Parts: sequence; C-alpha cells; structure tokens
Amino acid sequence: MHRSRNPPAWLIFAVLCTGCATQPKLPEPAPAPAPGRNGCGTAQTFAEGGERATLWVRTSAEFRAASEATYRAALAALEKGLADPAWTAEPTQADELSALPPAVVMDIDETVLDNSEPQARMLLDGTCFEQFPVVWDAWVANRSAPAVPGAAEFIRAARAMKDSRGRPVRVFFITNRECVSRAGSKDACPQHADSAANLRLLGLDAPSLDEDLMLKGERPEWESEKLSRRRVVARGHRIVLNIGDDLADFLPDVRRATPLARERARCAAEARWGRQWFVLPNPMYGSWLVALGPDFEPALAAEPQVKQGCQDP
Ligand SMILES: [Mg+2]
Repeated sequence: MHRSRNPPAWLIFAVLCTGCATQPKLPEPAPAPAPGRNGCGTAQTFAEGGERATLWVRTSAEFRAASEATYRAALAALEKGLADPAWTAEPTQADELSALPPAVVMDIDETVLDNSEPQARMLLDGTCFEQFPVVWDAWVANRSAPAVPGAAEFIRAARAMKDSRGRPVRVFFITNRECVSRAGSKDACPQHADSAANLRLLGLDAPSLDEDLMLKGERPEWESEKLSRRRVVARGHRIVLNIGDDLADFLPDVRRATPLARERARCAAEARWGRQWFVLPNPMYGSWLVALGPDFEPALAAEPQVKQGCQDP
C-alpha cells in the first residue's frame, strides 16, 4: 500500500523551531487517520495520491498549453497525411490504401472529454475502490464532461478537411467506457447514448456519430485491447492519425507490462510519435500507473527507465 512519507506537521514545527528563543512544549502527535477513509477498510482510496496531478489538469495554464499545442500539431500532421495516399497511422494497415477514405481514430476519456471533475470529487470524498464503478457510471450518465483543451476545435477542423480525392475525414471514437446495464433501463449499453449526448452537447454531432462511437463490450470481441476495433475502422478507412492519452490507445499488450517493456514498445514505434500518433498528457491515471504496481516507493528510488532517445532502451 502506498503511504505518504511526508513528516507530520508537529515534527516539521519542532525541527523549524530548533534554536528558537523559547522551546515550545511539543504537542502530542495527532492520531493517524484510519486507513482507507470513508469505510474502505484497509484498502487505499481510489484516487489516493492524485491531488497534484488533478490540480495540474484543473488549474494550470501549462496543461492547457500542452493540450492545445498537441492538437495544433495533430492538425498540421493530418494535412500532411491527407496529401499522401500511402500514409497510415495503423501498423496493421498496408497494401493499397488509395481506395479508402480517410479517418482519424481518437480515444475519449482525457483525450476528448475531461473527467478531472469526478477525479477531484473522489479525492475530496475519499471514494473507495469498490465505489468507483457507481461513481463513474453516474458521471457518464450526467453527460456533462467538458472538452479537453483543443479537442473540440480539432474534431471540427478535421471533419472539414478532405483527402486529395475530395473525401472528407471521418472521426471514430474508440473508448474503453464500458457497456454496463443500469437499473431501470433495458438498454444493454446506456453509456453509448450518454457518450454521444455528451459529445453533441459540446457541438461535436455528426450524421454518423452513433456509428463512429465504439465502446468496450459493444461487441463480444471488443475488449480492453483496442486493436480489434481499429481493425474494423481500417477495413473501410485509411487511418491517418491516432490520438489518445495512454500507451494502450496505440499499442497492444502494454496494459499490464512493466515500465521497461512499455519503454521498449514506445521506442519500437519511435517514428510514429508526433507524426501519426499524438499523446495528450494525463498525469491522473492510466496504464503507466498500473505498471508501477501498488507501492510507488521502489519506483521513486530507482533510476528512471524512460530514457531520452531510443538507442539504448
Ligand atoms: Mg483515455
């Protein structure tokens, strides 16, 4: 279990006051908070340790700048990719592609929709792991996530662009929002309608939006790995760009890999980053965090496994 190594306030006070004119009597240390607030038993809470990351996303000019810059660069790359009929962002897509109209593949959460609000709420409430599915589904049903900075502008601009044969770009959303039945609803996947409604509220409607939205579990073979859904898109479209916030949005078999294996996978695809693949910053959660395991302290103490360049991964 991850535990904060910050010293208690009374100890900081005591150290700062060494040499003070009058030594105050040390207060009794406050009793340690019960492990797992909010009745989580001995387990840590869901978003534990995510305060700074969530604040960065919700308040910093730096996050907005990074996100908008990524989308501006993606739009420039899309223009280049549209002009080159052999260009594809999908490694499994080859052969003659000029017969296929162009498409962009995008993840949804922390790529198009900003879910920092429930993240902040879970931190404030001390939400337990087992409470997460209910909290998350209520957020999805609320259909009110704002757009990630630059995402809506990118999608509108991309849909207005055409390839050299005059065929417009279609934007597909491949998301691991999961189909889960809901009490009082006969819909097997109410999350599909919710996600589409959320996108429409942001002005991102399209005649094909319902078809363009592919959730985890909508078909039996649509599991967490996104390749099976990209293959569906690739059968009818040349995938010019792929945009996401997680390595697993781009590459298979990295969801439970070690940090070193993930780094090797990144390097093996080095030529695609910033050209055909664009990553939004998400410091709040992701498979990068899963790769560290439950205890972060060994990773903090270790040499970084992510190196500049890819010559010696
Ligand atoms: Mg995502």
